[in-house]
Amino acid sequence: MKRYDYLIVGAGLFGCVFAYEAKKRGKSCLVIDKRSHTGGNIYCEKIEDINVHKYGAHIFHTSDKAVWEYVNQFAEFNNYINSPVAIYKDELYNLPFNMNTFSKMWGIKTPSEARAKIEEQIKELNITEPKNLEEQALSLVGRDVYEKLIKGYTEKQWQRPCNELPAFIIKRLPLRFTYDNNYFNDRYQGIPIGGYNQIIDGLLEGTEVLLGTDYFEFIKDTDIAFDKTVFTGQIDRFFDYRLGVLEYRSVRFETETLDMENYQGNAVVNYTEASVPYTRVIEHKHFEYGKQPKTVVSREYSSEWTMGDEPYYPINNDKNNELYLKYKALADSTPNVIFGGRLGQYKYYDMDKVIISALEAVRKEFDE
Ligand code: FAD
Ligand code: UDP
Repeated sequence: MKRYDYLIVGAGLFGCVFAYEAKKRGKSCLVIDKRSHTGGNIYCEKIEDINVHKYGAHIFHTSDKAVWEYVNQFAEFNNYINSPVAIYKDELYNLPFNMNTFSKMWGIKTPSEARAKIEEQIKELNITEPKNLEEQALSLVGRDVYEKLIKGYTEKQWQRPCNELPAFIIKRLPLRFTYDNNYFNDRYQGIPIGGYNQIIDGLLEGTEVLLGTDYFEFIKDTDIAFDKTVFTGQIDRFFDYRLGVLEYRSVRFETETLDMENYQGNAVVNYTEASVPYTRVIEHKHFEYGKQPKTVVSREYSSEWTMGDEPYYPINNDKNNELYLKYKALADSTPNVIFGGRLGQYKYYDMDKVIISALEAVRKEFDE
């Protein structure tokens, strides 16, 4: 009978980092994934010689030097800096909210003029402790920026009014009183030249992979033996939803090839008014400064998640977090299964955080 030390469910970043590190320590792994390709959500599909981020735009950014060096073992990164543009009706603004945005909005020049304008717009609101996203946004950037750049976009994205959403969602976005359009505050940022697949291929080199293989079917009648399982699928599904169903937000991508060299002049353009049905348009070639004769764009539509849909973003509200903790207690008492990654730990993880968490799981597993 065939035997491996580890069965790794999910060929996403978490599963692949675990497989790479386990192999380095002399362990044998079998990686399975229900999709027809490896890479999970960072997978790139080549169309017209452009690396298309099939499951949504992925920009690598981190402040952790060790993680930056880790990914640079497998790919060379370019110096891409994410600087999205926001379109509201026929007006165009720079993101994140910074002096370029304020200057365009109000015709002002200096940080003190911008602060005075915001102050003037919020003084009668008397918000001391913001209770929701609307109050948080208003108190940070004032009414004009909120109405034009936040309200419509956020309500499309989350399909809920801003005064019913938690304030923390907007806290991820930088707010600056300098002329700086960098969307992230991290020390390191870039796109792997040639796409993300080479990172995955590097991590999986020498490891056996079975694609198109769903764990729950596979495990029913396989005669392969494993000492342990690393599970990076949905944790509630693993336990047959016995405590309830964790919720997600889903996204639908409409991707098309256009017979022109340059469609929108930027990788990311957000459409912030409520009446445009999509939230943003990604033009993939600009992540790698592509010069191909054609271009590929993806429109992103936020969509309600129902069971069976692709689960993209965990909805970490109180109700779901409480349910997750109950599943986590079950997971902790399940011997020989390690739960990891975005779905296994029900966390809104960026790529760098997934790598950190996979490396932590490895250290714990190998008592290092
Ligand atoms: P996944 O990549 O989801 O991998 C899990 C794998 O498990 C999948 O391949 C799935 O098919 C497989 N699987 C699940 N269930 C089963 C089963 N039953 N049997 C077999 N296989 C199974 N991060 C950033 O740092 N920067 C960004 O710009 C960024 N943009 C993002 C945009 C979007 C739209 C999304 C959704 C995420 C974004 N992220 C970004 C986050 C990033 O995608 C994740 O951090 C990372 O991909 C998570 O890796 P993972 O291995 O945990 O999960
Ligand atoms: N946001 C906004 N207008 C924008 C971009 C973002 O109001 O043009 C808000 C929105 O509420 C969003 C949050 O900021 O949910 C976080 O944005 P980010 O781009 O980080 O979200 P992601 O698409 O990665 O979930």
